Amino acid sequence: MDQEKQRRLRALPAVHEVISRLEYDAEFSPFLTNERQLPRLTQCVRQVLQKARENVNRKFMDSFDEFESSLWSGLKSQLLQELERPRTSLRQVINATGVVLHTNCGRALLAPEVARSVAEQAARYSNLELNIETGERGSRYVHVEALLCHLTGAEAAMVVNNNAAAVLLMMNTFAQGKEVIVSRGELVEVGGSFRIPEVLKAGGAKLVEVGTTNKTWLRDYEAAIGTETALFLKVHTSNYRVEGFTHFVSGAELVELGEKRGLPVMEDLGSGSFFDGISLGFPMEPTIQQIVKAGLSLVTFSGDKLLGGPQAGIIVGKRPFIERLRTNQLTRALRVDKLTLAALEGTLRLYEDGGIEDIPVWRMLSLPLETLKLAASQLVAALQQNPSLVVELKEDVSQVGGGAWPTVDLPTWVCAIRPKQGSVTELEKFLRLGSVAILTRIHKDWVLIDVRTLLSGDVEDIIRRLAEWVSKPSDVAFG
Ligand SMILES: *Cc1c(COP(=O)(O)O)cnc(C)c1O
Repeated sequence: MDQEKQRRLRALPAVHEVISRLEYDAEFSPFLTNERQLPRLTQCVRQVLQKARENVNRKFMDSFDEFESSLWSGLKSQLLQELERPRTSLRQVINATGVVLHTNCGRALLAPEVARSVAEQAARYSNLELNIETGERGSRYVHVEALLCHLTGAEAAMVVNNNAAAVLLMMNTFAQGKEVIVSRGELVEVGGSFRIPEVLKAGGAKLVEVGTTNKTWLRDYEAAIGTETALFLKVHTSNYRVEGFTHFVSGAELVELGEKRGLPVMEDLGSGSFFDGISLGFPMEPTIQQIVKAGLSLVTFSGDKLLGGPQAGIIVGKRPFIERLRTNQLTRALRVDKLTLAALEGTLRLYEDGGIEDIPVWRMLSLPLETLKLAASQLVAALQQNPSLVVELKEDVSQVGGGAWPTVDLPTWVCAIRPKQGSVTELEKFLRLGSVAILTRIHKDWVLIDVRTLLSGDVEDIIRRLAEWVSKPSDVAFG
């Protein structure tokens, strides 16, 4: 075995040998036309050879002659793949998981026209903090404030880096060194270590828990009011549900109590949405407009969850409260950049002008089952041409993601595939490691491709990648 390994290692060419041989190969001429590309080419050749060396240490599936005769073509195809791979660390992936707000994949997608306007703003000067009429310095928040007020019904609005920052800023501004009353059923932890008790602490506020996990009454809030109380905070339970024998106090009830006792009520709405989702068959959730109407002093929500815009923390509410947030020094540290503002303004204008189908998140959430079935069966038909795969059309469920509607299973249709040789975990990995990463889900010995979250062009990329699954032998040697 060791001898065989040595023999194979010796058969691998040196870096300079590969490069000089490539000079006669038309396929590689785009990568050899100028001097500046040489270091990159050399680096890729090193990588591919390193991989080949590591693979020699695995079990051999072929004879030495087979190894040697496929060596050059294997190296070449690996090298081409390496050279064509996007060079940035942050790159596109195909989300075939059916999770619409996939946190690992960047949550909400911007509408194409919004993305275009962001790209334009990015490369040009703008009136970010300029009042064009007077020629004087302006505020960056004016570009979205009127729109946010119009859409939510609030008196005033501002935007920070994300919703976590919004809650932190709110606590720091209104409750530093004071007490904040929160129901025990709302002490949320969302993914990525955002925990309400910790955020309050970071903002300098003292948490006063009231009620129990499943039941909190207005009298619990009332009994907790003391000389140090700064405000009542409500928190959306986002990624979990307290169901069964429960009771929670609504924002409106708290506002009534707050008015009597001179205390503001604020709410971290988490995802927050302009639509209640009932038309899509989702469980009833109050909209942002309804929450604002209940008279809360401040309401915060994310820009890149159900709103379907860029990462941002949106704060809407009563003008004097927003004014005080603006003068907090932390606001400067948490402020949004021009690209976020361009994306948010564009997204909000889509809400103002049109229906939900213009917002990619909502378009994906509201795709009719027949459309999904048709798309999935077309993919199934195309992939059934591939003799290395077993392919079936199956019913399954997609997820909203992003901590929104955690208990909702969206019925969908998936293209289920299984390799005739090799395992589903290998196939999943093979899809993930192509020049375009394709993210799928494994369920009951099938790799599932959920068409709900696919974009135009994705299907072609998936078919192309799976066609390479046939050429598995060379991948065993090199990949
Ligand atoms: C998601 C969420 C947050 C954090 O929002 P980001 O925009 O990710 O910072 C805070 N609170 C609740 C209730 C959430 O659901």
